[in-house]
Amino acid sequence: MVAAPGENLRVNGDRLWDMLMEMAKIGPGIAGGNNRQTLTDADGEGRHLFKTWCEAEGMTVGVDKMGTMFATRPGTDPDALPVYIGSHLDTQPTGGKFDGVLGVLGGLEVVRTMNDLGIRTKHPVVVTNWTNEEGARFAPAMLASGVFAGVHSIDYAYARKDPEGKAFGDELKRIGWVGDEEVGTRKMHAYFEYHIEQGPILEAEDKQIGVVTHCQGLWWLEFTLTGREAHTGSTPMNMRVNAGLAMSRIFEMVQEVAMSEQPGAVGGVGQVFFSPNSRNVLPGKVVFTVDIRTPSQEKLDRMRARIETRAAEICEKLGVGCSVEAVGHFDPVTFDPVLVGRVREAAEKLGYSHRDIISGAGHDACWAAKVAPATMIFCPCVGGLSHNEAEDISKEWAAAGADVLFHAVLETAEIVE
Ligand SMILES: [Zn+2]
Repeated sequence: MVAAPGENLRVNGDRLWDMLMEMAKIGPGIAGGNNRQTLTDADGEGRHLFKTWCEAEGMTVGVDKMGTMFATRPGTDPDALPVYIGSHLDTQPTGGKFDGVLGVLGGLEVVRTMNDLGIRTKHPVVVTNWTNEEGARFAPAMLASGVFAGVHSIDYAYARKDPEGKAFGDELKRIGWVGDEEVGTRKMHAYFEYHIEQGPILEAEDKQIGVVTHCQGLWWLEFTLTGREAHTGSTPMNMRVNAGLAMSRIFEMVQEVAMSEQPGAVGGVGQVFFSPNSRNVLPGKVVFTVDIRTPSQEKLDRMRARIETRAAEICEKLGVGCSVEAVGHFDPVTFDPVLVGRVREAAEKLGYSHRDIISGAGHDACWAAKVAPATMIFCPCVGGLSHNEAEDISKEWAAAGADVLFHAVLETAEIVE
């Protein structure tokens, strides 16, 4: 008979916090955060610590050929697929102590609490540490989960190079974490990821839990505008072919398009190259990337089409050449409504304030969602700050999200009396 977990069941928030602080000692940053980039010696050390903790809880740790770690707590039904809880232990070069780490160690704390309480579940529970989520050392981000979900081939992943020219495959071997499992062969009953929000909404609204319903899709559209280099003083206004002016009109237009698709759409430009980039020369060439994101596939496609059409019109009027190349893309992800509902119900039952939220950043869960019912839980972070050594959360926030994770996982893994 399946029993619902009682609302008085909680994880051990102090123990979770101690694990977070212990892990943060490995690969310290220069300003109180962490530099535990993927496939460095510090990453290897962090992996060993995590493995030791998992084995102390009676879990078996499997490793796949991408170095992703899977720590399994068995279930009672040998035919039942596992419930996965995953995130990442790697960090940015100037990363925080919680981005990713909270989800992996939060998962381990769920298992520790199950062990404390002698809870048995029908489905196994597997805590996962995905390799190279950050993509800071080896682009792209979410590399191992991408191979797992069939988005990238393992050969592509192994050939990725860091800025020093070292290959991912060689570095994985060097730190001793090439496992024997084929990547992506595991089947999942469900996938949960607990992560810091990396944005300001939950804290600003004083909410303890973010119930993540979607992950935004994105297009990166790289524009190359061609004008005519000319002297800024001696070229009359009516004789200019001004690629810079076309660029500024396109920026304005991108803003208009994004504003007309509210709520739930963003668009902007973060990078521009002016050529020759001289004070007294009108640019002959301007290259910039428009970044548009929204959780709606329909909006995403419409925004791209509108931006490309209107940019062509703007450039034509000014006599400026315009070409566009799509240099980055993710489809929007809709998380599994049943799992999302369980997260919401768990927050409700435990008396935690919550709101539905959309993930603005990419996560391993976005790839896992391609191969399993998946969802995420967000924890607030101070000032919305992340990918920054000053990234911070409170012990109470960390524990509240782990409590919700615990209950949602138990509902899904099914308690056995
Ligand atoms: Zn992360």
